Amino acid sequence: MNVLRHLLAGQLWSPAGFEESVQLTFAAGRVCAWDAIPPHPPGADGVLDARDAIVIPGLVDVQVNGALGWSFQAQHRAHFDAIVAHHLTAGTTTFLPTLITAHETTLTASLALLADYCAASPAATLPGIHLEGPFLSPEKSGAHDPAALRLPDEALLARFLAAANGQIRIVTLAPELPGALELIRNLTSQGIVVSAGHTAATYAQMQAAVDAGLSFVTHAGNASDWPHRAPRPEGFWGSEPGLVGALLADERLSGSVILDGFHFHPALVAPLAKLKAPHGLVITSDASTVAGCPPGEYSGGGLIATVHAAGYATSGRDGRWLAGSTITLLEAVRRGVTLAGLSLHTAVELASAVPAHHLGLAERKGHLGVGADADCLVLNEDLSLRCVIARGRVVSEQ
Ligand SMILES: [Zn+2]
Repeated sequence: MNVLRHLLAGQLWSPAGFEESVQLTFAAGRVCAWDAIPPHPPGADGVLDARDAIVIPGLVDVQVNGALGWSFQAQHRAHFDAIVAHHLTAGTTTFLPTLITAHETTLTASLALLADYCAASPAATLPGIHLEGPFLSPEKSGAHDPAALRLPDEALLARFLAAANGQIRIVTLAPELPGALELIRNLTSQGIVVSAGHTAATYAQMQAAVDAGLSFVTHAGNASDWPHRAPRPEGFWGSEPGLVGALLADERLSGSVILDGFHFHPALVAPLAKLKAPHGLVITSDASTVAGCPPGEYSGGGLIATVHAAGYATSGRDGRWLAGSTITLLEAVRRGVTLAGLSLHTAVELASAVPAHHLGLAERKGHLGVGADADCLVLNEDLSLRCVIARGRVVSEQ
């Protein structure tokens, strides 16, 4: 069985809640009908019986750097295939390959090769590239190479955009840097989402950036400021919302959190999801080069990292910074339920429908209504993965 005609779902995620006993019919890689499961369901080839299971839409990740020691910086198609296979077979059917800060010649070459790769329709849907850097704050470089950071530069940005041949979907930058507002206006006028990240922006600087078109926050709470005390011109210490406070306060802003249990305290996820509903919070894996790797020391893809047995990675530069996560997005969904207390319905929504909305893919991704792409996961009751389907085709079975 490879191409499916019918999927019989015991419980099926829909935007309104879980529906029971639904027969999905697929044609040409899309959902073409929803019906009640008939008394004598079809049992022939092309039918997947998941009447004892939970069916959810394929997951959508806005930030994936790599896996298994490989990274999208590496300029090797075989490495890209390995990364895609790792995330796709774990349930991430759509994602943005992400490139981090590097020197111009390296980054331009990476963008060109990766753009070609995305356009060539690999097994997962790769709707474009997330460019995270190099216009980031030296104060918040985290695992990025501080020596390769740049101030906002229209000409350099134009070279990046040309190299990527229209494939850049999100640019993460630090909006307080000189010249950033012009870049934000330029990028948003081209339909590219501009996101604040690796930034020391104050609330006032974030307001100016949002007025210029910035609409997103990258891995809120990491490489960015939480509400804190800061000196005011009057001489006393006032309160400064920082980037996290700006996300809380400004309805125009949406953002992502890395839900691995280490990057963002799980106790804050459910209240943030409630505050930012319906479209303001996305969960991401921010899977790093070392996602899926056993404990040890690794270098590559602009990153030197140590993977710890407890399931997190730190940057090898001084060991004080987390270096992106080691998980997949389905694991973030599970941790959303087990650590953050989200309902399964909400955790799935934040990892499918909401990111699809921000990528302009809401018609075809992030739900399983008629007309949507037939991307879905079959989960057991304990949320272990039974099967991944991409565009109507079974791509992995446990
Ligand atoms: Zn980052």
